[in-house]
Amino acid sequence: MNTKKEIIQQLKEEKNAVILAHYYAPPEVQEIADYIGDSFYLSKLAVNLDNPVLVFCGVSFMGESAKILNPDKTVLMPDASADCPMAHMVDRSVVDAAREQYEDLAVVCYINSTAEIKSWSDVCVTSANAVKIVRNLPNKNILFIPDRNLGHFVAKQAPEKHFIYNEGYCPRHEFMSADEVRQLKEAHPQAQVLVHPECNAQILALADYIGSTSGIIKYAAEHTECEEFIIGTVSGVVYKLNESRPDARFYFPATRPSCPDMEQMTLDQVIHVLKTGDNAVAMPPEELTRQAGQALSRMLELAR
Ligand code: SF4
Repeated sequence: MNTKKEIIQQLKEEKNAVILAHYYAPPEVQEIADYIGDSFYLSKLAVNLDNPVLVFCGVSFMGESAKILNPDKTVLMPDASADCPMAHMVDRSVVDAAREQYEDLAVVCYINSTAEIKSWSDVCVTSANAVKIVRNLPNKNILFIPDRNLGHFVAKQAPEKHFIYNEGYCPRHEFMSADEVRQLKEAHPQAQVLVHPECNAQILALADYIGSTSGIIKYAAEHTECEEFIIGTVSGVVYKLNESRPDARFYFPATRPSCPDMEQMTLDQVIHVLKTGDNAVAMPPEELTRQAGQALSRMLELAR
């Protein structure tokens, strides 16, 4: 009998599909993926692939971005219920009130958000390029949505701007325990602490390096003099960390930060969508897609 891996390989060839997996997907899913990365990297990469079918192993806002950037391709989500709570955590009234109060306002939107929220915004950012883009904006007043932790992190590095924050957060990073990180530091005094800017301020204060998931993986790969790392992001990233630094040890806070929406994805779901074409992402309404697309294009322009 064929293994699940063999079945997926066969279906991929039949459908001319490519499998894209986010760093936070379960290890068995990352193992069968053609490409692993963060959501924007995967969506952009797909533009240059010939495959007409993309299986996006991530949460719904990622599938939506992939569809906007690849309108002629079929984007299949293995788990249609996988969603990111932070992607919805801003109300239109917050944006309208700030626009009314500040004439030269720029609404800066973290890419981890729905297409509708992107469409209210002037520019999108990733956790990797947010500082550069905010500094490059001509506007003095910045409304940063939806994540307040990333907003505060960027504000510290762009003191010439005036920031207005929104009360959104990623529950996985927000509720990570600083005490648990301190305990790990005591137990492993040689370890460097690498954390994601979505973490709360107490965790960021303990970090040797703060950066995106790709940044954390790159940092660990390049700092070969260090053999132990304490990681402040979702534990799914350990798959890539182990691959690039098999000699190193990675420690996570005891209350292991996991993203249930990502981790509940299974190989059976990948097989199901490949077989049936179920869970295809619909193109958002035209006007909304156009406005969200503008915010994404502005990001590419300002990140250059
Ligand atoms: S880790 Fe946080 S931001 Fe990322 S998908 Fe999960 S809930 Fe959303």
